[in-house]
Amino acid sequence: MNIKTVALSFAFIIAIANFEGADLKLTELNTSKPIVTFIDDDCTTLFLTNLEPICADKNIKITLSWITSKTGQPGYGGVTYMTLDQLNQVAEKGYEIVSHTDQHNHLNIETDAELEADMKISHDILKANGFNADVIVYPFGLEGTYAEKLRTKNAASKYYKYGVDCLIGGDNPKPIDNYCVYRQSTETLGIDGLKDVVDQCQANNSWLIFLTHSGGECFDAKKVSELIDYIKLKGIDIMTFGEAEKIKCNALDFNNCNAPVYRIIYNQEDMDIPIKNYAINKETIVECAFAVPDCENQAGVMKVYRGGNHFSYALFYSLIYGNGNVYKRNWDDYALVPAWDTWEKIGV
Ligand SMILES: [Zn+2]
Repeated sequence: MNIKTVALSFAFIIAIANFEGADLKLTELNTSKPIVTFIDDDCTTLFLTNLEPICADKNIKITLSWITSKTGQPGYGGVTYMTLDQLNQVAEKGYEIVSHTDQHNHLNIETDAELEADMKISHDILKANGFNADVIVYPFGLEGTYAEKLRTKNAASKYYKYGVDCLIGGDNPKPIDNYCVYRQSTETLGIDGLKDVVDQCQANNSWLIFLTHSGGECFDAKKVSELIDYIKLKGIDIMTFGEAEKIKCNALDFNNCNAPVYRIIYNQEDMDIPIKNYAINKETIVECAFAVPDCENQAGVMKVYRGGNHFSYALFYSLIYGNGNVYKRNWDDYALVPAWDTWEKIGV
């Protein structure tokens, strides 16, 4: 069983289960075509002079990430951030506006309260203005130690469906890590290197997201223009994040789940809690964003089924950064001390 089959059968199992009240998003996996998205960071007025004419000329629409506290303000190097009027005009033309936080800080060194505010304030402002409030683009990328990254992802998941990185480039493998969507900078590779990544996206039928800074000194209009031409020459569609997400998102969006599908994030101890902690006659989804020692140190998703008559089991799907293996263990209800037995690999 490959990852796609796992995801599809997993989605099917969820679809037939009675998850009353669960906000599950089921999407037919579309691996039939590659898609490229451009996200231009910071929303300075230089977008209007440096990049918008290129987009108009080539008839493409891109996504812009907006730092809400800087709206209309002067910035470093003599740039000015777009006013709300300018952002509305840009949005009316079909460009998409998403979050780039409220303050544009290094998120890994913010206090918990600052991080929470940065996520919430920008989300609420985007929503109030009718922009796409489902996507956060992390300033400087998803930075820090493993624990710091998890803290950022956790904070983002309270308000957004996706968090976009820029420290990991290349195209996005399936399934996508919703809170670490990869993005390839157009600034760190030459045009040949960028074309190679486009080729890779086409070969993988994947989703490739490019980063630009139209307000930055290193913005290279000629290179970006040539890159867009190359993508079009290859017959690859260029879409905004929101358009592409509808096609390229995971078959099952775990992060949209609410009761009675339980999310238990980043807590290794919870993997082995007794079966009585799970809802009876239900399947519960547990995100395991850590290395699971008994499953080849992979991260992934655990599905626990608690039956009504002693029969319960758990499946573990190594998904995120993982090797795609599937493991199973049973709940031994007849033991002197009822407990989970050991994980066994049952497929790939
Ligand atoms: Zn930025």
